[in-house]
Amino acid sequence: MMDFILKIQNLSVSYAKKNILNNINFSVKQNSINSILGPNGSGKSTLLKAILNAIVFSGDVLIKQQDKIINTKKISAKELAKLIAYVPQRYNIAFEFSVLDVVLMGLYARSGFFGYAKKYQNLASFSLERLGIAHLKDERFSNLSGGQKQLVLIARALIQQSQIIVLDEPVSGLDLGNQHNLLELLEDIKKEGKTIIQTTHYPEHTYNSDNIILLKNGKLFKQGDFEILSPPNLKEIYGIDTQKVNLPNGGYYFCVCKNKTKS
Ligand code: ADP
Ligand code: MG
Repeated sequence: MMDFILKIQNLSVSYAKKNILNNINFSVKQNSINSILGPNGSGKSTLLKAILNAIVFSGDVLIKQQDKIINTKKISAKELAKLIAYVPQRYNIAFEFSVLDVVLMGLYARSGFFGYAKKYQNLASFSLERLGIAHLKDERFSNLSGGQKQLVLIARALIQQSQIIVLDEPVSGLDLGNQHNLLELLEDIKKEGKTIIQTTHYPEHTYNSDNIILLKNGKLFKQGDFEILSPPNLKEIYGIDTQKVNLPNGGYYFCVCKNKTKS
């Protein structure tokens, strides 16, 4: 039996009779980085929301903990938050919380209260430091830029101390330096034994992924290692010609082949 921490079984989602995700099946190994790619509207965010039991879906999401298999539909939201932390793509709050407050919210699932004790404030400060944004601690969250908000939400997810972290397009809105820092951070988190599931629009950002999932029209098109990011497969999902450029350090990127000849 394959050792999984998360297993998606026959997962389907429909909104108002429109089928969005269609019979998705895959497993995620403990201590791995998993990247989901697919065109806009292919169902990536919907898949993450189903994993978080935040929307109605058919099928099952199973989480393995020690020797127990937990069906996410059978536990409370709070129990699930101990197992999975979520970094949404966009997040706005109506109230004037400080950055530190927002990070402290990550403790809620674990401790059952907004931990204002010194100990928790130190944890939150450490988490912000890790993301290189300790200086934003006392700013109003709502005043931050999109990219800064993204980093705060990641700090909040880290403090939650769950085994699995789910991130929806975590690099969107981040500058080049922060994109790079985030990809390295994901590797560090993995080294600490965690399992990461992210969506991304950047095939080259999968260089440190153990498992890649390609979605097309709400269906799982391919799953595997970086080899599935081939120009024919990218053509199949994005409808464009690309060229894979291998870098000396083992990384790679894809450039779009422009056809400049006009008839
Ligand atoms: P992606 O994240 O891959 O861009 P989404 O999962 O956000 O795609 O959306 C997949 C499809 O589901 C899109 O066609 C979108 O319009 C539709 N959709 C998403 N959320 C809702 C909703 N709450 N109600 C109706 N349709 C939705
Ligand atoms: Mg999305």
